[in-house]
Formats: sequence, structure tokens, C-alpha cells
Amino acid sequence: MIEEAAVSTQDELKRLADALEKTRIQTIFLEKRVADRLSHDDASIFHTHLMILEDRGFLNKVRRNIAEGHSASYALLHVVTEYIEAFERMEDPYLRERAADMKDIGRRILSHLTGKGHRKPVLKHPGILVAREILPSDMASLDHEKIKGIVTEAGEKNSHAVIMAKSLGIPAIVGVKKALGHISPEDHLILDANSGCLYISPPEHIVEEYKRLEEDCQIELSKLAESRNLPARSKDGVEVSLRANIGLISDIDVALRNGAEGVGLYRTEFPYMARSSFPDRDDQYQLYRKVVEGFEGRPVTIRTLDIGGDKGLPYFQLPREDNPFMGWRSVRVSLDNRDIFRTQIEAILMAGVHGPVKLLFPMISSLEEVETCKEVVREARENLEQAGLPCAGDIPLGVMIEVPAAVLLLEELTQEVDFFALGTNDLIQYLLAADRNNPLVSKYYDPLHPAALKVIHQVTRTAIYRGRDVCLCGEIASDPMIFLVLFGMGLTEFSMAAPFIPRVKAFLHNIPASVAKEAAREVLTMSDTRHIRQHLGEVLQGLNGFFRCPTGP
Ligand code: PEP
Ligand code: MG
Repeated sequence: MIEEAAVSTQDELKRLADALEKTRIQTIFLEKRVADRLSHDDASIFHTHLMILEDRGFLNKVRRNIAEGHSASYALLHVVTEYIEAFERMEDPYLRERAADMKDIGRRILSHLTGKGHRKPVLKHPGILVAREILPSDMASLDHEKIKGIVTEAGEKNSHAVIMAKSLGIPAIVGVKKALGHISPEDHLILDANSGCLYISPPEHIVEEYKRLEEDCQIELSKLAESRNLPARSKDGVEVSLRANIGLISDIDVALRNGAEGVGLYRTEFPYMARSSFPDRDDQYQLYRKVVEGFEGRPVTIRTLDIGGDKGLPYFQLPREDNPFMGWRSVRVSLDNRDIFRTQIEAILMAGVHGPVKLLFPMISSLEEVETCKEVVREARENLEQAGLPCAGDIPLGVMIEVPAAVLLLEELTQEVDFFALGTNDLIQYLLAADRNNPLVSKYYDPLHPAALKVIHQVTRTAIYRGRDVCLCGEIASDPMIFLVLFGMGLTEFSMAAPFIPRVKAFLHNIPASVAKEAAREVLTMSDTRHIRQHLGEVLQGLNGFFRCPTGP
């Protein structure tokens, strides 16, 4: 804590007011810088900072402390520390991460109070930034061209700073304990964010291997860029649709640059996460409209809110649950908060006026849920009509197939909806009872488990037979070995993180559908994951060892 000299309450309150005003101006500047470099949406974190700066509860606490005879600096540190500790104690990883925002604001007000100003970290040379923690204002003010990577000791992978780094294409690893103690500025570092590995002054053979990988990747990426606008087609001419999974507005540009044919999954919870209260209908409409217009006539599948599990909102209290992934999450939260749900659907229907939109409901496990969702769509439509607001006529309705119960109810669901989105990230975790985020059970979470393949095959076959579109939007679509089987099962619509699209497209150009079909047929008869993997490895080898960069972009 800061040493206190004798202070005058009036002077200290005045100093605080000045520092708050300077911090406010600085925050507006940071918001503008991020909005110019990334997008308004990514910059909205600084809106949250502005709201904290105007939060009466927070300011009154600091003022009360000053009135008790403390200096402004002491009072500020005291209150900010209290807030940080409260956030850090929270179970919800999203709320826990808000401690970083509080630190950021506290640090900036304090630097204005002490008159030292905000020391902007200056990078002399391009390199990897190693820090104890990186806060949103650091990300906003650093020279992005010079940062080749980020390593931090503290922080969470869902932090605003890391999301910003990702949007800027800067690889980052967080939570590297004692990184600063182990790394000195002279060390030569190799940061492999794909595998989460950091090499400190590695031996020559590792350096050589990474140099070779980097060169290969650059050559391959420039080749892939050429094929960006070519159709996604197999060697023998079977057309496939490759769409993007998006969450932030800045993802639109990334998706278009990588040749995405629209959006297979728009995770709308991301923009909700960056705000400090529920966006109203008009805010949501403007946001969705921007996405729809950004894709210029290509289809955009908008999924309703999927919070809960590992995704929380700072302003919406989720209960503490022993099994949050099996708990009150996703469409269950929406159905129990019908006003919030209806408002979101109204905004989606309004955005549907500006381009082809599909409406997707997550985590469906029963027909009753689908019936209620459709009822809410009817109510939303009626509300808009009554208010005289334009809304899309018929928009296709779909459900995510990500709970095993939905697989068993697929025939019935085909009577209710227009399309399916196969959410294998969750489907695999629920099917194999293996938490998708728990490294202790990652060996059980195997997409090539024979049961997982059988279930995906069953969904694909039924959807095709019943004439329903089915798009697979789990992460597995970008893995060539798994893609081969999925394509061989008859899936022709995929949605993935956009940077993988050119690679999957190039892979597809090299495989005849007949080879994929035969590979799928063969592995569906196998009951041992090792044999499945071995067989697919052999098939891939037969396709000229196509992939040299093993883990994607
Ligand atoms: C899924 O579960 O496969 C999916 C795509 O949704 P999310 O990863 O957002 O849960
Ligand atoms: Mg899911």
C-alpha cells in the first residue's frame, strides 16, 4: 500500500476527480484505437471500463475512504484491491477474468494520480513479449506490428486481452508459471501456440526443425491463398460448402479473406460477453445486420445465446452448479428467460431482412423444447408486426445436434425443423462422458472413438434420407484425418474457424470422394480406435502425405 502523508480531504477528492477525468479521456482514446485497428465490437471492452469509471458504487467507496482521512492513492488502491479479490474468488472463469479489467483501470487511475502518467510499454525490436500479465489497455496501446507473440505468467485464455491478440493474429500462451524468472531478454524463444509449447534457447536441431516448418508453412500458405476463391470440390468433382464459425465482428474479415461461403455458426454469446449489460433489441439488430451485410448474400446461421457451461456473462448471475455443462446452460437459460430470448429472436428476424439468415437453437434435448422455441419465434414475429417493424419472412429454423438424446430423436426432429447443425464439440463430450475442457480426460475425448463415428454417421444418414441440410460445425472438421471420414460418410457442409478453410479446401482437391467413402465404410466396421487411426493414416499416406504443417494455421 502507498505511504500516506497528512492529507486534506478536499484536495484529495479534487485529485481523484482530475485523475478520473484523465483516465476517462485515455479510455476513449484506447477505444478509438482498437475500433480503428480491429472493430467497434472488439473495442467495446473499453465501454465497460468507462462504465466502471462512472459506477457510483465504486466511486462512492473510494470517496468514503478519502473522507475517512486517506489519500486518494491509498483509497483507490484499497477499493480496487477489494474488487480484484472479490472477482478472483469467483467460480465462473469469465467473471474471474474481470479482475484483469479492474486491475487495468486501477493501474491507469493510479498513474494519473501519482502524476507519472501511463507508461506505455515501448518495444525496441520485433519480438515475443513476456510479461506477468497483459491487460486490455496494453493490447490497445502496444505496437502490434512489433509483437510476434505473447507469453504471460497470469491470465486466462478467455481474457479480453487474449481475444484481442487472437483477432490481431498474434499467437499467445497464458498461464506460464514463473516465465519471467526463467526467461531473460537474451534468450532465443520459439513459441508454438498450436501445441501450447514454449522453447527457451532450444538446441540447434529444434531451431532447424521450426525454421523448416515455418518455411513450409509460408510456401503452403501462399499457395493456399491462390486457391481462396476456387470452389471447394473433391478431386472427382463433389462440391462441398465450407463456412466459418464466427464470434466477433473482426471475424467477418478473417472469414472473407479465407474464402468462407457464409457462416455456419455465429456464436452470439461473444458480443454479449464484451458488454456490461444485456444489449437491447436495437443493439443486437445493428450487430447482426453488420454480420449479415458483411457476408453479401452468403447464408449466415445465427445461433441463439449459448451461455452457461464455461461461458458466463458479467451481468447475469448463473447459479453455482456442481456440473455446469450438465446444468442450466444454453437454450435452457433462454427458455427460462423468455423476454431475453424473444428479444434476441426479434433482432435476428429483423436482421434477416438484409440477407439470408438461418436461426439455430443450441443444446436441444427434447421435442417440447423445439415446440416452445418455435412458439417464441411466432411471438417475436407478432411483436414486430404489431410494432410495424420489417422482419424476414420465412427463415429456416434449425437445431444443434449436440446432446445424444437429440440423435435418438432425429426422425421426430426432422418433422419440426429445416436443418441440423452437428455440434460435435459437445456431442462427443456428452456421448463419451469426457469433459471437453479437462486435460485429465482428454484421452477419453476421442472423435475417432467408434461410438462417436457411428453417431455422426447415423445423424448424417437420417438427415440426408429425410432431405434436411446438415452442417458439421465442431472443431473436428478442420482435422484432415477426421475430415476424410466425415466427407466419406456423405457430409458436404462444414463450418470451422476460418483460417482452416483454405487448407481443408486444398486437401479436398486432392481426395476423390470414392476414396473417402471407402475409408468411412471401412472404419465404420472397426471397433478399436487405434485400428481406425492406423487405417486412416495409411489412406492419408496414400494421398501423397499431403499435409506437411501438422496442426493448421
Ligand atoms: C459444438 O458443441 O460442437 C459447437 C460447435 O458449439 P460450441 O463449441 O459453441 O459449444
Ligand atoms: Mg456446443
